[in-house]
Amino acid sequence: MRITKLLIILLATLFCTTGRAWVYPEHRDITLAAIQKLDSARRAQLDRLWTLARKGYEWRLDVLVADATQGEHPKYLDYAAFPAIAGDHSTSADNMLYNILQTDWILKVADITARLKIGLANSKNTSERESYLRDSDLRLLRADPEYVSRAGSNNVHFMLARTGVNTSARTYFDSCFREGVEVNLIGTYNWFHTSALLKAKRLASETLTPDQRSALTLATLADEAFALHFLEDAFSSGHVAGIGETRPCARAPTITMMSTDLKLPPGKVNEWC
Ligand SMILES: [Zn+2]
Repeated sequence: MRITKLLIILLATLFCTTGRAWVYPEHRDITLAAIQKLDSARRAQLDRLWTLARKGYEWRLDVLVADATQGEHPKYLDYAAFPAIAGDHSTSADNMLYNILQTDWILKVADITARLKIGLANSKNTSERESYLRDSDLRLLRADPEYVSRAGSNNVHFMLARTGVNTSARTYFDSCFREGVEVNLIGTYNWFHTSALLKAKRLASETLTPDQRSALTLATLADEAFALHFLEDAFSSGHVAGIGETRPCARAPTITMMSTDLKLPPGKVNEWC
C-alpha cells in the first residue's frame, strides 16, 4: 500500500506539466482522423507507402495504415499509433521503431491505452476522468520500462517561451532553431519533419533495391510520425506554457535527434544526424 501511495505521488509530480496534454489514445485519434480526411489520391499514396514500409514486419504492423476498429488487446500496430508512441514511449524516431518492432511491452501499452480511451469516453465527470488517467499511468509504469524517466524529462514537448509580447512569428520561429537554444517543441518538429522530407526525396530520386526501398519508406514514415507527435502537442493547451526558468516543473529533455536510417544505403540523408 505504501508503495502504491508513493507511486501515485511520484506520478502526480512527474505529470504536473502534462495535465492538459494529449494522452496516447488522443494522439492516435488525431492521426487517425487526419488519415481518414486525406483526399483519395493522397490516401492511396499513403496506403502504398505503408504497404512498402510494413514489408517484413507484417507480424507487428497492421495491414491498415489507420485501423479505426482497433480496440483492446491489439495484435498489430497501425501508423496512426506511431505519433502516440513517439515522444511519450520513445526518445527518437530510431528508438520508436525499435520499440514498435522489437519489444513486446509496446503491445501492452497499446492495450492499456485502448482501455483508457474507453474509460475516458464513459467518464461522467472530471473526477472519474482523473481516476482513469491515474490508473492508466500506473499500468503504463509497469508496462513501459522507461516511462518514468521519459516523463521526468519533458521540456522537449513544450514551446519555447517568447521573449516579448511583440516578438514576431518569424523572429520566434528563428529563435527555436538558434544555436545553443534549449531543445523545444518547434525545433524538434522541424528536425524530424525535415529529415522525413530528405528521405522522401531520396525515395523519389534514387535507384534502390526492393528491400532498400522498403527500409527507406519505413524510415521516412517513422521520422514524419515522430515529428507529428510534436506538431500535435503544439495544439494542446497544456503545452502552450513556454519553456523558461520560471516554469516550476522545467526539466532537461531526453529526446535524441536520431532519425531513422535502418540498413540504408549511404547517402546524404544519413548524414543528416
Ligand atoms: Zn508530447
